[in-house]
Amino acid sequence: MTGRTIATDYLIMGGGASGIAFADSLLTDSDATMVIVDRHHRPGGHWNDAYPFVRLHQPSSSYGVNSAPLGTGAIDEIGLNAGFEELASGQEVLSHYDRVMRQRFLPSGRVQWFPTSEVVEGNVIRSLLSGERIRVDPARFVDATHSKMLVPSTTRPSYDVSPDATCVPLNDLPRVAHHFDEYVVIGAGKTGMDACIWLLENGADPAAIRWIMARDSWVLNRANFQPSDGGFARMCRSIADQVEAIALAESLDDVFARLEASGELMRFDPTVEPEAYHCAILSDGEMAELRRIEGVVRLGRVTSIEADRIELDDGAIPTGPTTLHVDCSAAGIPTRPATTVFDGDRITLQWVRTCQPTFSAAMIGFVEARFDDDAVKNRICNPIVPPTVPRDWLRMMRVELDNRNCWNDYPEIGDWMAASRLDPFNKRARTLLGVDAEATEHVGRYLANVVPAIAQLDRFLAQPAAT
Ligand SMILES: Cc1cc2nc3c(=O)[nH]c(=O)nc-3n(C[C@H](O)[C@H](O)[C@H](O)COP(=O)(O)OP(=O)(O)OC[C@H]3O[C@@H](n4cnc5c(N)ncnc54)[C@H](O)[C@@H]3O)c2cc1C
Repeated sequence: MTGRTIATDYLIMGGGASGIAFADSLLTDSDATMVIVDRHHRPGGHWNDAYPFVRLHQPSSSYGVNSAPLGTGAIDEIGLNAGFEELASGQEVLSHYDRVMRQRFLPSGRVQWFPTSEVVEGNVIRSLLSGERIRVDPARFVDATHSKMLVPSTTRPSYDVSPDATCVPLNDLPRVAHHFDEYVVIGAGKTGMDACIWLLENGADPAAIRWIMARDSWVLNRANFQPSDGGFARMCRSIADQVEAIALAESLDDVFARLEASGELMRFDPTVEPEAYHCAILSDGEMAELRRIEGVVRLGRVTSIEADRIELDDGAIPTGPTTLHVDCSAAGIPTRPATTVFDGDRITLQWVRTCQPTFSAAMIGFVEARFDDDAVKNRICNPIVPPTVPRDWLRMMRVELDNRNCWNDYPEIGDWMAASRLDPFNKRARTLLGVDAEATEHVGRYLANVVPAIAQLDRFLAQPAAT
């Protein structure tokens, strides 16, 4: 320990998307000082470890920090996202956070940034390079690491790989793909989908790809999340369709049948019942591209890759030296129990809106800045545990509907959302509702169904998980 102690209002452990969005709100809405610490050498968290062809799954215009735009909101004219708002590349996401740190946070004089460092023993910053230790005396500690993201480049696969087989994280795919004749993509989450799409877009023969799909997933349809003015009516239709599907459904299965019929959710193979759901988002074009792959292997999880075969839970398939195995098996956002967001001197950043970590962290920052009573703050920021299985779509919706109702009770929350670039819905609702007849009709349908939907959700969620 150097003997040096820093006094600050907030010690923020984690400079990923959540920690930075939270700090950004505090900078805007309070005069607090803060210390941000991260093991990475620049802000952006796991985006620093992402594969070279990664892109946001959602439009850039509603990701990042509230105070600065990400991208221009341009509509892609070519490619599998054509017709939809641009999706920032990993480098663009990192540049966004780098600019925010250099041009806003540090010049403010209120933020101290400790890269390549970690928080140990609760309030000590330890440099990963020099080992220097600095004690921090914070009024409040902010855990911005709760998501515990797992990405392939930093997570060892759970299966064994023979020294005679080649298996790489998808980060290495562009570098080595051309040395191989065939590809086995292991994992059917969003990174597995991205690996398959990269192979297809770069000219691989679909017949040369085998895709290990331990579980099929429900996938969100990007068409429903287009924040531009032109996408507003469709967004309204989407929220109305969601509550209507729940309110009118006769069973849990019927909810998903209705969500699929309305174009809310998609699945790779309409004959296979999905067993997973992780908030992955695809365009119709991307889904059509993926469906060109016929070599889907549904034999459970890989247990080992040998020189001549891949062993799975329910069988084995052949492989060989000219096959590249691409590991996409990391869990992404693991499901961890929720914890109270505001707990005395400790704040734990979690989702308060489904699948929206940056909106959620920004809102928690605003609530921290503007409200005093922890009970009120926790009522506004009821945490939503990320999903794993399809039923979690309903569980998350139940908490989100409670949160939406609660937010209506606080005009300052409504004003914040209406001004927030991270909340395209409320921003447009104030100007377009009543003017855009189609959107207004959908919102009427939402309001007519939301109370019955809550009752139905309680009924469905009380049923045993197996049904
Ligand atoms: C391929 C991919 C695409 C995605 N696309 C989207 C999208 O389109 N939209 C969306 O909303 N979400 C998307 N996500 C989800 C994404 O994870 C979140 O948007 C967000 O980046 C999570 O940020 P975070 O800050 O919660 O976690 P992280 O990025 O994991 O940041 C946590 C940070 O805490 C640091 N840390 C941990 N322990 C310590 C310690 N003791 N001391 C100091 N630092 C510590 C870590 O080094 C890390 O940098 C995507 C995820 C992936 C993998």
